[in-house]
Amino acid sequence: MAKDFAWIRAEPQGLFIAPADCWVDPARPVARALVTHGHADHARGGHGETIATPQTLAIMALRYETRDGARPVAYGETLRLPGGVDATFIPAGHVLGSAQILLEHAGERVIVTGDYKRRPDPTCPPFLVTPCDIFITEATFGLPVFRHPPIEQEIAKLLDARAANPERCVLVGAYALGKAQRLIAELRRAGYHAPLYLHGALERMCRLYEELGVPLGDLRLVADVPKAALAGQIILCPPGALNDRWSRRLPDPVTAMASGWMRVRQRARQRNVELPLVISDHADWDELTSTIEQVDPAESWITHGREDALLRWCELHQRRARALALVGYEDEDD
Ligand SMILES: [Zn+2]
Ligand SMILES: [Zn+2]
Repeated sequence: MAKDFAWIRAEPQGLFIAPADCWVDPARPVARALVTHGHADHARGGHGETIATPQTLAIMALRYETRDGARPVAYGETLRLPGGVDATFIPAGHVLGSAQILLEHAGERVIVTGDYKRRPDPTCPPFLVTPCDIFITEATFGLPVFRHPPIEQEIAKLLDARAANPERCVLVGAYALGKAQRLIAELRRAGYHAPLYLHGALERMCRLYEELGVPLGDLRLVADVPKAALAGQIILCPPGALNDRWSRRLPDPVTAMASGWMRVRQRARQRNVELPLVISDHADWDELTSTIEQVDPAESWITHGREDALLRWCELHQRRARALALVGYEDEDD
């Protein structure tokens, strides 16, 4: 064995880079953290120093009021950490600011993907395939059953439901960071330029995306318009608001939800979703396997989801792989 990669190891609360005394996406506050992106299961407040892209730091400042110790690193820039470790942030195509982190030490290259997808997304730069020795990949949708349809098809379903129900509104549950903005940008790309209505909880993140250079068009708050004006309109809300008291003041909503989990009928039923939209910001099965083929690492470490099936796929394709048992990652950002 020429290389042992003892300098990077998986602890239950995250990946630890020993020579730099630094963690990647740690589950609890640490002295120095590299953060791949702003979702709550990766980005936490309270670190002494938080190293991330400027966009991720802006998102963290908004969500967790973490400003102290923020150290921005732009895509493509290399930061020298203590102990002779270099860290480079590379686009991951997941949400605005999301990055894979390339770690280099003693001639060895390790990439931590964080969450990623391979489909084009008008709200963030695309995933860049980068060679490395060890590729630490997420596997949120790591089962062959998960094959996300083209987003154009799901957007068309949403627009059809709106056109077919002029007396009702279409209420779409979408996570506040990433999914909501991508949905809006894709509606615009499909030629829908009418006002889109927002639950108040989505407003600040949408405004931040716009400040960071992602135009979202005419957005209005539900709270600012009378009920009658919402008939025939598309409204976005956090998933938790789909069935709560807030939605009762809307004109007979067609309930929709944008999530990779909408592939699973039971999940749609649990939330009383009439119109499931299979839209995910994570790689599906084909994207996970083709990405491993393209990156072609000496070894893949699989985390953060359904490790077993992807591990088996690697074995069948004569690729070295192992599963990492990290805690604290959730489905929050699906
Ligand atoms: Zn995420
Ligand atoms: Zn995640």
